[in-house]
Amino acid sequence: MAVRKPAARSHTRAPRKVAVKAAAKVVRKPVPKRPAITIPAGISANSVVRALNVIGDRWILLILYRAFLGSHRFDDFQRTTGMARSLLADRLKRLERTGILQRTPYQKRPVRYEYRLTEKGADLHDAAMMIVRWEKRWHFDRKTPVHHLRHIACDHGFTPELRCKHCREIVTVRHVSLKAGPGAGSDRRLGPRAQRRSSLPARHAKHLPPMLERALEVLGDRWTSHVIAAAFYGKHRFNEFQETLQIATNLLADRLERVVKLGLLERTAYQARPKRYEYRLTESGRDLFPLVVELMRWGDRWLAGKGGVPEILIHDSCGKPLVPVMTCDQCHAVVGRDDVSVPRG
Ligand SMILES: [Zn+2]
Ligand SMILES: [Zn+2]
Repeated sequence: MAVRKPAARSHTRAPRKVAVKAAAKVVRKPVPKRPAITIPAGISANSVVRALNVIGDRWILLILYRAFLGSHRFDDFQRTTGMARSLLADRLKRLERTGILQRTPYQKRPVRYEYRLTEKGADLHDAAMMIVRWEKRWHFDRKTPVHHLRHIACDHGFTPELRCKHCREIVTVRHVSLKAGPGAGSDRRLGPRAQRRSSLPARHAKHLPPMLERALEVLGDRWTSHVIAAAFYGKHRFNEFQETLQIATNLLADRLERVVKLGLLERTAYQARPKRYEYRLTESGRDLFPLVVELMRWGDRWLAGKGGVPEILIHDSCGKPLVPVMTCDQCHAVVGRDDVSVPRG
């Protein structure tokens, strides 16, 4: 999301000339300087970051993925994810604590529990679908069962899309802007826990069916996902990322390199002496935007608290606050949670 600063818009003549010049320059550049979202001053709390703090962990994502495919029991999670028991127990506890899974007994003697998605957990469905959408578009793998989603209502294989509920246009980063919501303010920086490098590259066991490997590389490491989110919020330079994320410089350098390797950010020199670089979202990086919107919607609904939402996304095409709906790219109807089937893997 490149948010244009309102101040720049309200100026009249002089800045206009500047803008025209800048636009002319852009044409010659190989990387179009299309802003992600421009953020009004004073906003730093945001629902995307809050959502990533809850689910931006490789193992949490794997468990959620299996939960959406119908796993409920410890042994089933263990068998399908290949996680060590202690690790699985730890992440299940975390999902319980954050209100995403609910533990209920299904057997009395000896007592045994199963884990079901709560309403808060089930509400991550469309975000999960946006992960599948991105992976399918950029890293399609016929062996991955979830890449063969079917829309039950129209009985077609489909790729999910995200549209504006009001005008039904496809949501892209180019057609949105942000304004401060009632809960705008600053969130605390991430605790030391988030700084832990979360199990890169740690692929899961080979005998398991492929499960969103690419998406897990992007979202499964907290700092990696935070770097990408910051890029959507118009951060391009090393010091801008650092200021926003409050991350140690060696960690930041490591994650930026990784995100460039993943092909989501492109590094270009903006100054020759001394050499300085900036980082811009590539086409596949920008295509993560529907997921960002869904994470924001989820964070707004479940993590905003009494203060209200920190930011409001406006859909510039129709001028209304953006309410996203997931649709089918074959029949264009809205796709409900129970309207999707996945072939068994
Ligand atoms: Zn709209
Ligand atoms: Zn359909």
